[in-house]
Amino acid sequence: MTTTRTLPQAFRRFRRLRRSEALRGLVRETRLSPQDFVYPLFVAHGDNLRREIESMPGQHQLSLDQLAAEAEELRSLGIPAVLLFGLPAAKDDAGSEAYDPDGIVQRAVRTLKQAAPDLVVITDVCLCEYTSHGHCGVVVDGPDGQAEVDNDETLPLLARTAVSHAQAGADVVAPSDMMDGRVAAIRQALDEAGFAATPIMAYAAKQASAFYGPFRVAAESAPQFGDRRGYQMDPANAREALLEIEADIEEGADIVMVKPALPNLDIIARARQEFDLPLAAYNVSGEYAMVKAAAAAGYLDERLVTLEVLTAIKRAGADIIITYHAKEVAKWLSGPRLSS
Ligand SMILES: [Zn+2]
Repeated sequence: MTTTRTLPQAFRRFRRLRRSEALRGLVRETRLSPQDFVYPLFVAHGDNLRREIESMPGQHQLSLDQLAAEAEELRSLGIPAVLLFGLPAAKDDAGSEAYDPDGIVQRAVRTLKQAAPDLVVITDVCLCEYTSHGHCGVVVDGPDGQAEVDNDETLPLLARTAVSHAQAGADVVAPSDMMDGRVAAIRQALDEAGFAATPIMAYAAKQASAFYGPFRVAAESAPQFGDRRGYQMDPANAREALLEIEADIEEGADIVMVKPALPNLDIIARARQEFDLPLAAYNVSGEYAMVKAAAAAGYLDERLVTLEVLTAIKRAGADIIITYHAKEVAKWLSGPRLSS
């Protein structure tokens, strides 16, 4: 007995355009490019230092003498920008190496700009890598006797840090501390110091996220007491994230950032719809480490998963993706096209 199949008169055959990689490529809506990427670098004192970060396979702490080669590699891969994090020689309560004109980041900026003038050098502006307590601002005794990070006492130190980075030659400064009013304070300080042309990329919606764990190993910046929930955002809040972004734009941010990226694709998409400034997303250390660990265990295809993750971040609306995968992805993108 034969069964008669009746098909609807007309239905859309989406599969027509999926018949070959060439066709799929022709109608692809979202394309990754090395030009989308910012590559984070961890710079440290010392000589000939290239220390792999255990929790972030393939990423290293680098001494200054390693930076010229790093910049050359990035140039050859078409990656236009780096984001610098520093490991100071010593930490203190006030995080003083953060704003030392001869601090590790300031020296790294000078080294990179000399070696590769065209490379966009973005500096992370915060105190947590430099403070002995590991918090992002000045710690005081609060009204209840508990230690807390004082917002307004922190602002001048952040502003001073940003100005010192601009003086060293930074192309963009990127405050990541989540103090209220820091973008306005930094903008004013930059303008007064003669750096009206230096843009600010604000970590605008930065959540208190467990995905930062591997980074804190890399930057040696874990808080020594408490956590950062008193200043970083509650990951449960999306409307507040948009208010944070709006506030940073009003204070003078030139680029706004959502961090971490993967758990916040909804916020990236909403920010893209609501605001017209360039939007960055930080594909953070934990997101990177998960892919690396699963790939090492043979659970995932590293290349396909990485490309899928970064494509999703771009599709959600990010113009700029800060990612530890930048170099490997740039290599893959310049190689033969994916067939699966
Ligand atoms: Zn910080």
